[in-house]
This record gives sequence, structure tokens and C-alpha cells, in this order.
Amino acid sequence: MTEYAKPIPVPQPESERYWEAARREELWLRSCLDCKQAYFYPRDICPNCHSRNTDWIRSSGKGTIYTFAIVHRAPHPGFGPDAPYITAIVELDDGPRIPTNIVGVDPKPENLDIGMPVQVVFEKITDEITLPKFKLA
Ligand SMILES: [Zn+2]
Repeated sequence: MTEYAKPIPVPQPESERYWEAARREELWLRSCLDCKQAYFYPRDICPNCHSRNTDWIRSSGKGTIYTFAIVHRAPHPGFGPDAPYITAIVELDDGPRIPTNIVGVDPKPENLDIGMPVQVVFEKITDEITLPKFKLA
């Protein structure tokens, strides 16, 4: 593996289980037992109703493109070799929207559209961190 030049997420106590699951190539979300809504990013307090009565659920990993942008000028030198690349917000079938990249498709506007179905894929970047990304379904 060549040295990874992009910023690397630092797991926090609230998100450690999320990163553990990602290492197993599973996408897990926090979900509120009171208002029954799943949410992202992982945290102990429900952002919808402020309940602490929360749990984890395994996401299907399926969703649709809520919005996207094709990045031509990387905001960080580490992303330079990837440009152009696709950043996106994916709306998961489980409810939450997740910031991510769309991979495995030529990053041209004619290849992408709002509402296109996508499926999670995983990119291992270090022994500790595996990033959920999405491909067209
Ligand atoms: Zn709630």
C-alpha cells in the first residue's frame, strides 16, 4: 500500500463501532428507539428528538444520490491525483443522508443524476480505517 496522503478520520468513542463495522465492510447507523429514526453521523444523542435512548442498526447500504458535485480542483493536495472525482450526499433507504464519494463511474455530468440508485462499497485506507463509498447500483 502506498502512503495515504489524504486526511484520515480519527475514531471517537461514539463512532468506534461505526469504524469497526466498516472494517468488516458493513455500514451501521445509530437509530433512535424513541422517535424510530436512524441518523448519521454516529452519536449518542438523537439529533431529531434529543433522546439518549439509541441503538445501532445495520444499514442495507442501498440508497439514492441526493446531490453530487464533480470536483476538478482538489481542496487538499492529497486529493489532487484523484481529480476529477465525485463528492455526493447519498440518501440511504434507511433514512439518513451520508456524505461520501461515488466511485466506479467516469466523473462526467452525463453519467450521474439525482435519484440514481447506489450501493455502498468499501475502501480500506489503513489497517484501522475503511471508508464507505458508493457505486451506481
Ligand atoms: Zn429520536
